[in-house]
Amino acid sequence: MTENRQAPASGSIMVVGGGISGLTTALEAAEVGYEVFLVEKNPYLGGRVAQLNQYFPKLCPPTCGLEINFRRIKDNPRIKVFTLAEVEKVDGEPGNYEAVIRINPRYVNENCTGCGSCAQACQGEVPNDFNFGMNRIKGAYLPHEMAFPSRYVLSPRIIGTEDAKRARDACKYDAIDLDMAPKTMSLNVGAVVWATGWEPYDATRIDNLGFGRYPNIITNMMMERLAAPGGPTAGKILRPSDDRAPESVVFVQCAGSRDENHLPYCSYICCMASLKQATYVRAQYPDAKIYIFYIDIRSPGHRYEKFYKMIKEDENIFLIKGKVAEVSENPETRAVTVVAENAVTGRKIRQEADMVVLATGMQPAAANIKLPADLSYTDDGFVINDFDKGGMFAAGCANKPADVVSCNQNATGMALKAIQTLKR
Ligand SMILES: Cc1cc2nc3c(=O)[nH]c(=O)nc-3n(C[C@H](O)[C@H](O)[C@H](O)COP(=O)(O)OP(=O)(O)OC[C@H]3O[C@@H](n4cnc5c(N)ncnc54)[C@H](O)[C@@H]3O)c2cc1C
Ligand code: SF4
Ligand code: SF4
Repeated sequence: MTENRQAPASGSIMVVGGGISGLTTALEAAEVGYEVFLVEKNPYLGGRVAQLNQYFPKLCPPTCGLEINFRRIKDNPRIKVFTLAEVEKVDGEPGNYEAVIRINPRYVNENCTGCGSCAQACQGEVPNDFNFGMNRIKGAYLPHEMAFPSRYVLSPRIIGTEDAKRARDACKYDAIDLDMAPKTMSLNVGAVVWATGWEPYDATRIDNLGFGRYPNIITNMMMERLAAPGGPTAGKILRPSDDRAPESVVFVQCAGSRDENHLPYCSYICCMASLKQATYVRAQYPDAKIYIFYIDIRSPGHRYEKFYKMIKEDENIFLIKGKVAEVSENPETRAVTVVAENAVTGRKIRQEADMVVLATGMQPAAANIKLPADLSYTDDGFVINDFDKGGMFAAGCANKPADVVSCNQNATGMALKAIQTLKR
């Protein structure tokens, strides 16, 4: 405390990505007194967690954690949130970075009360990206029921159409501005935390598992939306081909992960996600049979192992050690048959089910489009933290596949690393 340290060139921190990791880093840094700019490309905060139905292992809704964080953000004037915003460029050095941010138009300003008249006025519909295209919504919409900020947005797909004019004319609060244009701005910050998270691996690339060819094969993230009250079926798990209640569901583990042709690593969360989703099916359909095909079940730590044990004791859930090699569809019933070799008995198994859920893994957001800064990556696109160089850090799933608890711990650590940069 008696040391006479040089003041940092900038005392601010930029956090890129407003998922659970970015929110945690932003809050931890702001709550000890630092100014934070939180840059999120979606029109809402919360990231992938906002799309989940329940969290393992407690099975509470994601609102539990997210709403507390949103309240903390609202109460903290040190955090400036930019939604629909992306970083175009970061130049500089630890303690003194210049970041160029592009803010895309929302076409709706802060007058919005959330009344919904604009949506009612629209005649056409656009695919609902939040629900992975499983339903359609009006082109003026609230991204999801607990969206923060709680403000409508106009889809770029309707700009220039009659629907955009109908939406504007229906708004009594002068909240719709069809002339909004993209803006760029510069921020001077001392440290940057990249919390850009992950994307579900593109299941259409796993040829042998039939996703995209057979309607009753879905991904685990689609299952989260099917089970969620705000999802395309209002929370009822129905098989997509005929909206019928499934009597049997197969889960295919390591769909793309631990496979040199796709993602060579373990995605860490998809065993727990399938065990959790088995409880969604059991809660809605007590007689349904569930078959989980796995290479190994990875349920790290005492609490997850306890959850796994509980699932194993369920007499309607069958865990089969065997990697699924192929799938086929019965064109009349639309049932799907999976074929695997039982790794314990060596016998070939054919299991038919009404629905199949692929436990697809996580791919870092930076795998396909590199971030606009001087960063190092693993071969798979995860950002490598160079603590010797400092200044820029990756938190949460931008750095490695992780569950929410690990992301929170890691993101808190990265807030501290960012603060240390400002202090040096
Ligand atoms: C099927 C499934 C179920 C799961 N269930 C659970 C569970 O029950 N419990 C649990 O603990 N974990 C669960 N997880 C894991 C959980 O989803 C992750 O731990 C969590 O999403 C990681 O948060 P994150 O903030 O690191 O990344 P994300 O949630 O991906 O958030 C990243 C954010 O950054 C934004 N972004 C990306 N690129 C940019 C950019 N260039 N500029 C600006 N913004 C950008 C994104 O829009 C997003 O908002 C599950 C995962 C799956 C696949
Ligand atoms: S933009 Fe206007 S009409 Fe639409 S929800 Fe907001 S206040 Fe209501
Ligand atoms: S968590 Fe389970 S399903 Fe996911 S990649 Fe690892 S072993 Fe496979």
